[in-house]
Amino acid sequence: MKDLIIAGSGPAGLSAAVYASNAMLDFVVIEKLSMSGGQMVNSYDINNYPGFEKTDGFTLGQTFRKHAETAGAEFINDEIASIEKIDGGYRLICNKSKYETKTVILATGASSKKLGVKGETEFVGRGVSYCATCDGNFFRGKPVAVVGGGDVALEDALYLANICSEVYLIHRRDEFRAAKYLQDKALKNDKIKVFYSAQVTEISGGQRVEGVTLDSGENLSVDGVFIAVGIKANSELIANLAECENGFVKADESCRTSAEGIFAAGDVRTKRLRQISTAVADGANAVHSVEEFLNIN
Ligand SMILES: Cc1cc2nc3c(=O)[nH]c(=O)nc-3n(C[C@H](O)[C@H](O)[C@H](O)COP(=O)(O)OP(=O)(O)OC[C@H]3O[C@@H](n4cnc5c(N)ncnc54)[C@H](O)[C@@H]3O)c2cc1C
Repeated sequence: MKDLIIAGSGPAGLSAAVYASNAMLDFVVIEKLSMSGGQMVNSYDINNYPGFEKTDGFTLGQTFRKHAETAGAEFINDEIASIEKIDGGYRLICNKSKYETKTVILATGASSKKLGVKGETEFVGRGVSYCATCDGNFFRGKPVAVVGGGDVALEDALYLANICSEVYLIHRRDEFRAAKYLQDKALKNDKIKVFYSAQVTEISGGQRVEGVTLDSGENLSVDGVFIAVGIKANSELIANLAECENGFVKADESCRTSAEGIFAAGDVRTKRLRQISTAVADGANAVHSVEEFLNIN
């Protein structure tokens, strides 16, 4: 039985891996994807992580991973399908194997929320995307829509304005939630046309997306629709074991959850600000709490 299993290798899991290595715990990190970095891998421009004035998420993810490996962390590429309580700990049932551990740090992060309109699911991969940096290039010289009003939506609109012919930024409220500097940049950009207090009611097309319909009845001809309307926690694995709030695992800065021996770090837990720096801080705090737990038990 391991001392600890870290579920996920985004910023929270990778930070936890460095701290767990330094604490000489017997642990592994289980990551379902072939690369580490989590959500930030989708960001082409990161300028708010101290020590890196300007970088991209893929590079930062690789740098974190290398640091964790150098510190001694072992990574397993597998998807955790479920977690069950056993005597003295937990059993993690993964797609390829099973693991037993005294403690778990759940650092499974969050995923993009769906818009929930007609045509959305049908056109995923055929014009509907949740990642501008991954898919933007397919829409070079073409008109696209971005749906949302937060940091990610405005970042996406600015990024796409460099590539696409026109960007329709559709937001359901009359003002943006995004950082002021992003708003200033977007509003000054000639290629971005903003639709405030507007909602997409349908995404339509033939083989691929051809347009979106707004609740005003207006139809916009676009080749792509980028949806950036928020995130939902990947908390399903412990939903029956620990208390959650709006889908996020209930935990404070200590990362302790209501399930003994399970700790939640990063975007998956209840917190005010979901960023790389706060996820990294959680990774450190979670390992500290794991050490306290193991010493007592
Ligand atoms: C487009 C975009 C741009 C962003 N830009 C910035 C920015 O500029 N600055 C900033 O500070 N923050 C930014 N963020 C937010 C930041 O990326 C997140 O706050 C941060 O990644 C959260 O880290 P995390 O480790 O909690 O979770 P995540 O990054 O979500 O990582 C979770 C990891 O767990 C893995 N996982 C999930 N489920 C399982 C499972 N069942 N089994 C195994 N592995 C699993 C996932 O594959 C993933 O690798 C951005 C986010 C996005 C989407």
